[in-house]
Amino acid sequence: MTEETDVLIVGAGPSGLTLAGGLLSRGVRVRVIDRAERASPHSKAITLWPRAFEVFEALGAGRELYDRSVKLAATNYYTGDRHIGRLRMRPLAGTRFPVPVSLPQASTEEVLREVVQRHGGRIEFGRCLESFTQDDDGVTARLTDGTEIRAGWLVGCDGAHSTVREGAGVSFEGATYPQSFVLVDGEYDTEYAHDESYYVMGRTGVIVVAGLPGGLYRFFASVPPGVEVEDAEAAVAGAVAENSPLRADSVKVAGSGVFRIHRKLADRMRVGRVLLAGDAAHIHSPAGGLGLNTGVQDAGSLAWRLAGVVRRGLNEAELDAWQEERLFVARKVVAEADQQTRMWMLKGWRRWLRDIGITLGVRTGVIERVLPRRMAQLDLVLPAQGPAAGRLRPGSRIPDVPPAGRGQHLYELLGGGHVLLTVGNAGAAALTGLGLPDDVDPDVLRIVTVPSHGASALGAPRQALCLVRPDGVVAAAATPSDRSGVAALRSRLLTLVAPAPAASRAR
Ligand SMILES: Cc1cc2nc3c(=O)[nH]c(=O)nc-3n(C[C@H](O)[C@H](O)[C@H](O)COP(=O)(O)OP(=O)(O)OC[C@H]3O[C@@H](n4cnc5c(N)ncnc54)[C@H](O)[C@@H]3O)c2cc1C
Repeated sequence: MTEETDVLIVGAGPSGLTLAGGLLSRGVRVRVIDRAERASPHSKAITLWPRAFEVFEALGAGRELYDRSVKLAATNYYTGDRHIGRLRMRPLAGTRFPVPVSLPQASTEEVLREVVQRHGGRIEFGRCLESFTQDDDGVTARLTDGTEIRAGWLVGCDGAHSTVREGAGVSFEGATYPQSFVLVDGEYDTEYAHDESYYVMGRTGVIVVAGLPGGLYRFFASVPPGVEVEDAEAAVAGAVAENSPLRADSVKVAGSGVFRIHRKLADRMRVGRVLLAGDAAHIHSPAGGLGLNTGVQDAGSLAWRLAGVVRRGLNEAELDAWQEERLFVARKVVAEADQQTRMWMLKGWRRWLRDIGITLGVRTGVIERVLPRRMAQLDLVLPAQGPAAGRLRPGSRIPDVPPAGRGQHLYELLGGGHVLLTVGNAGAAALTGLGLPDDVDPDVLRIVTVPSHGASALGAPRQALCLVRPDGVVAAAATPSDRSGVAALRSRLLTLVAPAPAASRAR
């Protein structure tokens, strides 16, 4: 029997669940399958950054996840026994989730599954994709239980060993680090502060320590190349005994694991009606804790575009733009995580130079000002073209502040669609010249008037027009006097609010 749906999502990890929530909340028919028999109780990821929370919040789950997590107050660097720096995590401006936090991946997934269920979806555990074929109208997926699912679109959120990626013929090139890594989560009797993280660059490798909810800790350590790990708990205890400057005695183990770490990148994220998101498209070292964060942003930014294509006939070129944007981010993340991982392992004069760099960077406050914002990707500008207005340029993230200086924050007004900000009197007057249809669906576009005094907090000039995407990224911006800028904004606006009438459904 062939079952039908608009979108088939393979994989119910953080990327697949986020995508499912984003599509279901926009009225798209979705099926989510996962080959595992049940949800995994294990947690790989623990670090979450503001932009992931903004994606979760758009699904109504950001606040709950943030409240459950341990807020990071500082990060410490040790080289051997020497403490070379303490970087305070000052609250980041322009976001309602201002500090990085620790939350086990299992908890994040649990809340995301509830989101999917709240929107009428369900996770089909114990169903494994075997192969698929695609044609002009859709994709036919065959599962190992012999059933077929016909879908308009297939999205592979099926992790590093993605069946979808292989089936689509997408290459996944990269390398594997020579060290193994071990981790133990659990109760510790320790001198490490619970709300601070630690990078201990010791004699035989690195130890990373972070607090988890419920008073638990994660100890994550490298194992030198060539050393076989038989027991993760013994390996972590050995690394602590060998390298830790602070006392840490394991009291009760909640979870443990041994990992090899790779850095690999897909050469494409779209092949016709097949898309890839999350670890299926990019994997890298957990240094910086960005894997899950990047995957859920892939999904959050795909959800509104794919929903537009499925439900409203939005041009499929939007999916190519998504691919370009997300590969740009993935390349950056893979390179930066690689740089950090190598930094952990330096020896000789390079190690000495690194330690001086960290010491000076922390003492002068440069690292404190630059690093958290950079890791949080708040100032990351995505590849996009078009005119700018003040600091608002296409591809940049607009701050999440109340547009009128008080009241609701901007991202609360997005409601899953785009927002057109008219700033100042001239901005409001320019609205009439845009020729918007009278019956624009508020789920697709809302218009928000910003008084001139609210402009600077948004990075806007006192008179402006700015089109903001559902993920808080500027789609187009112009000052009212910039005629070609306004024309470019208008044309972008019309492709979004008045796409072709035909909806592409699975046939
Ligand atoms: C030790 C470690 C620590 C980490 N720490 C962090 C961190 O602190 N912060 C961070 O952001 N990231 C971290 N990461 C990375 C993070 O765990 C991953 O990036 C994240 O799990 C990716 O989510 P995903 O949904 O894309 O894929 P996955 O979580 O891998 O989910 C894929 C799902 O697809 C299913 N599946 C696979 N094949 C099929 C098939 N053929 N049919 C049906 N289902 C299938 C699987 O069962 C699985 O449930 C860490 C990783 C490791 C190893």
